[in-house]
Amino acid sequence: METAEELRALAAGLAGHLKRTRTRVPAATGAVPVPDTATAADTATAAAKATVPRASLPLADVRAELGDCTRCKLHPTRKNIVFGVGNPDAELVFIGEAPGANEDIQGEPFVGDAGQLLTRMIEAMGYRRGDVYIANILKCRPPGNRNPEPDEIESCEPFLKKQLAALRPKVIVALGKFAAQWLTGRPEAAISALRGKWYRYEGIPVMPTYHPAYLLRTPGQKRVVWEDLQLVMAELRGKV
Ligand code: URA
Repeated sequence: METAEELRALAAGLAGHLKRTRTRVPAATGAVPVPDTATAADTATAAAKATVPRASLPLADVRAELGDCTRCKLHPTRKNIVFGVGNPDAELVFIGEAPGANEDIQGEPFVGDAGQLLTRMIEAMGYRRGDVYIANILKCRPPGNRNPEPDEIESCEPFLKKQLAALRPKVIVALGKFAAQWLTGRPEAAISALRGKWYRYEGIPVMPTYHPAYLLRTPGQKRVVWEDLQLVMAELRGKV
């Protein structure tokens, strides 16, 4: 992802990878991935038939309803609510975990080191950051960047649900364990088991992959993330 050479090398391996890892997007009623021999066209057709919920509220109304939120124990220590950023008509949405220190200060998701890597990933996919929409499971920073706690996720999730209903993207990329577990409905699953396979959230195809912060610590995993993102690009191409 970092250099043109690396991109070319990764692209060269893509054809074989796609043959090995083709999966069918599971039915809306069940999120179990079904590896099979379906063609990419089959996958695209299944995805096109997905029932994507209509927006109950426009995005601005969801933000207005959230207000100056005091619903969970994170509000006293946050500087800013980090609602989400990007194109309200985005076909591609990225969901991360929670704001960190930089995001808390700036009120925008993924603006620190992990955010810069995410921006490069988005650009490697052929988009600009402003073309997509980016949000998190939690809208307020957990102190010291600790993990989100169940009661915090429970308080925040009605707003993420309404945000996603307003956005109705063609694909959601779940970044890291917390987003992957929530979006796939598998709270016990390891991200290593979830990544690289298709699931559905409310009929919308979901691709879990490793979090950019993990990639900063473990750059050897960038290759598999790029493979996951190539599956997303193929899925989106199938929907044009
Ligand atoms: N990590 C996340 O999961 N989200 C952010 O917004 C920043 C870092």
